[in-house]
Amino acid sequence: MDTSVLDHDVPLAELLDIEGFRDVCRSFCDLYGIGIKVFDGEGSKIVDVRASTGDHCGYLFTVHATQVLCTNLVNQIRTTPLSKTSGIATIDCFSGLKYKIVPLRYEGSLLGRFIFGPYAPAALEQPPAALSRHEPELNLATLAKYQSKLPRATEETIGKVVSHITNVFDVLIHANHRAHLTSRLHIASVSSTFAELEKTNRDLKQANEKLQDLDRLKSNFIATVSHELRTPLTSVIGYSEMLLEGMAGELSKEQREYINTILEKGESLLTLIGQVLDMSRIESGNVLVQRQPTEIRSVMELSVTDVLPQARKRGVTIVVEVAPDVAPIAVDRDKVRRIITNLLANAVKFSPASASVALKADLVDVAPATSGHFDVFEPERNRHLRLQVADQGIGIPPDKLDRIFEAFFQVDNTSTREFGGTGLGLAIVRNFAHAHAGRVEVQSQVGAGSTFSVLLPYVTDIISDNAGVEVLSSQQSA
Ligand code: ADP
Repeated sequence: MDTSVLDHDVPLAELLDIEGFRDVCRSFCDLYGIGIKVFDGEGSKIVDVRASTGDHCGYLFTVHATQVLCTNLVNQIRTTPLSKTSGIATIDCFSGLKYKIVPLRYEGSLLGRFIFGPYAPAALEQPPAALSRHEPELNLATLAKYQSKLPRATEETIGKVVSHITNVFDVLIHANHRAHLTSRLHIASVSSTFAELEKTNRDLKQANEKLQDLDRLKSNFIATVSHELRTPLTSVIGYSEMLLEGMAGELSKEQREYINTILEKGESLLTLIGQVLDMSRIESGNVLVQRQPTEIRSVMELSVTDVLPQARKRGVTIVVEVAPDVAPIAVDRDKVRRIITNLLANAVKFSPASASVALKADLVDVAPATSGHFDVFEPERNRHLRLQVADQGIGIPPDKLDRIFEAFFQVDNTSTREFGGTGLGLAIVRNFAHAHAGRVEVQSQVGAGSTFSVLLPYVTDIISDNAGVEVLSSQQSA
């Protein structure tokens, strides 16, 4: 388990503004003439402010024996063990000077040590007699001369200086510790929020993967069921047609009417199953675009035949018009037929009786759907085949125009709605248009009619390596 940020021992260098602290030490040194060194808990020196000792220490360093003694003393000062409870220690220099080692503590932790010194105790008159054994190399009179220039202080004065600077240290460290804790707490709370977010993200990803699996399962199930439904339904339709043709004998007027109804309902059920199947293929990313050079007029005529029974029933006329410059285009015939048929079926369905529906094909220059802007370097990429289905029907309210291409969306979704349908037709149109790197647009006015335009890049050659077969992935179709 993680410990609280409040429980962490913080290194001295992180708790102090070292530069500021060095300035404070320097002003103490200037004031009292005593050097200050500060080591952190690891023994690294973080402050080293030297007072002028004249040539006293330098002179001791010129003699080999005292140089060794000096080095040992420095080591002792640095490494004298301190505990969380130890008090101020006094270290005597062999030359008669002294050092004070003050443990630096904060909130029960030992953060490092202050070293004050060297200073000459008030009682020091002469270098210790023991040093005389190093003569003649060391001249005691010279050393005494240097010592006489050093600041002298009584233990009482040194005690006051030490307590003064440790008080300042406490104040500085307290302020910095607060700021440090606040920032640590902030970082800790941000990290814990981040960790929570990461976990939520992971959970979401897993849930999403599960949903995708389920979705794939559902699409496969729908595809299989729809496919299985189609076979018997085609038989129902086939047998109804044979009965109507009198292959099983003469039919009465009433029998003929009933069989006509069976045929009509069977066909609309077949259309519905076809749409569900198309949609499940789109969702599972199994849509293949098989481009073939296609004379668009022939596809338009096939689509007209698809919707002719409904059009006749409502007395709606479909007028086909193809601009003379439209040459064969490389498209997936079957998909383009589905596009036009779905648009025509809607146009007929939402038109008043005896109205007219226009189905047009022409060539226009528009920005390609893939880039979204006009191509000035390869202007032929702007060329598009435009298929338009215009009706004089009920129209679509402006606030619904964006949504009609969503699967299952219907402007009138009440149970009493007048027009049949699944709400899948336009979703399929849009997906098949996207599969051709094209797009679909709509303009409509309530009560006046709607015009759907499908724009397909005007590709006249099949240049793809895999003989014109492209797979529409679910990403593309989104
Ligand atoms: P369906 O026609 O099966 O309901 P579609 O996806 O083809 O589903 O269309 C979605 C909805 O868009 C329709 O229910 C209808 O509200 C609206 N719509 C589509 N085409 C037309 C049109 N030509 N005129 C008026 N409304 C239309």
